[in-house]
Amino acid sequence: MGPHVRSVPRPSGECADRTLVPVQELHDAPLAPLTTFRLGGPASRLLTATTDAEVIEAVREADGSGTPLLVIGGGSNLVIGDKGFDGTALRIATKGFALNGTTLELAAGEIWTDAVARTVEAGLAGIECLAGIPGSAGATPIQNVGAYGQEVSSTVTEVVAYDRHTEETVTIPNADCAFSYRHSRFKAEPDRFVVLRVRFELEDAGGLSAPLRYAETARTMGVEQGERVPAAAARETVLALRAGKGMVLDPEDHDSWSAGSFFTNPILEDAEYEAFLARAKDRLGPGTTPPAFPADGGRVKTSAAWLIDKAGFTKGYGTGPARISTKHTLALTNRGEATTEDLLALAREVVAGVREAFGVTLVNEPVTVGVSL
Ligand SMILES: Cc1cc2nc3c(=O)[nH]c(=O)nc-3n(C[C@H](O)[C@H](O)[C@H](O)COP(=O)(O)OP(=O)(O)OC[C@H]3O[C@@H](n4cnc5c(N)ncnc54)[C@H](O)[C@@H]3O)c2cc1C
Repeated sequence: MGPHVRSVPRPSGECADRTLVPVQELHDAPLAPLTTFRLGGPASRLLTATTDAEVIEAVREADGSGTPLLVIGGGSNLVIGDKGFDGTALRIATKGFALNGTTLELAAGEIWTDAVARTVEAGLAGIECLAGIPGSAGATPIQNVGAYGQEVSSTVTEVVAYDRHTEETVTIPNADCAFSYRHSRFKAEPDRFVVLRVRFELEDAGGLSAPLRYAETARTMGVEQGERVPAAAARETVLALRAGKGMVLDPEDHDSWSAGSFFTNPILEDAEYEAFLARAKDRLGPGTTPPAFPADGGRVKTSAAWLIDKAGFTKGYGTGPARISTKHTLALTNRGEATTEDLLALAREVVAGVREAFGVTLVNEPVTVGVSL
């Protein structure tokens, strides 16, 4: 049976002309098409909100009736179980791009990569290396999105959110967002904040990028790490590098039917790192030097892609409908006919293989709904 469509009235206080576009409500609505994996069963109810007032109203209504709530932006970091979601799924489709000098405010539903393009066109620096990351602006603070040497935590000044605990709209300054590597207060308290708007402070460097922090970008552009280049060129270079790794959405390319990196890079305590190093040398030879980068608290960050590859899960690994991307070891992908269970079976196989080979336990980056690894 197809989804049942019904319109619900807009919250009071909306302009009269907006009432012509009612909040869309669907029942037994497939969620797979709303995710980049194209996986997951239906939601008992799916609302699409196009204004902050609608978002708040929908959240209040779900919370007031004790109905589970799933907030969906671009669905590019979601693994939804085959049974779907028994509750209200709320798709955030708000619009708003306001650039005032170097201050940017984005509505949660803005498409992130388009917003990046517009700031670069305006000659500003700070988020140009985050081009090509799929999904919505409102989701960027959730896991502190990052790539190619930039993270949103460096440019976000404030996050405006609806706080489901206090039932108020709050403005949370950067210092209270608890940003860290692929993490934040919003991810730590998943049932509390619904992001409405994100504010950024960008830099006017006369059309130049922020200093390039990432070795591969600098090398590709023929400059030293730490140098600036035209921001538009930095953005284009990042997009080209990402496309070569299947990290730009392309409906024709099954390597991008993914959530990007499926695992975060493990951050190890000193003793854990020493044990891992010993195991790596034992397994791969005494000359082995696994990637190691300094992380917060004197810890060491190593590379999940390296671990997966060296444990024997190379690009294209798998024979079923869920396989490792042919372009990037870190991306698990749906080759077209997969179910969420197929994907999870592959993820579990990789986790077990890496643990057995190196004693390191990988943690999934995407948010799981109704399932776990
Ligand atoms: C090909 C590909 C490449 C990727 N590359 C990168 C990368 O380089 N770096 C990186 O960091 N990530 C990357 N990702 C992951 C993903 O794009 C980001 O995490 C993105 O920010 C998710 O946005 P979304 O709107 O799709 O969120 P969704 O997948 O819709 O949701 C993700 C989580 O955020 C919550 N959420 C979404 N919107 C809101 C809101 N307004 N308020 C509260 N909670 C909300 C959801 O409930 C869910 O828990 C990649 C994904 C793909 C498919």
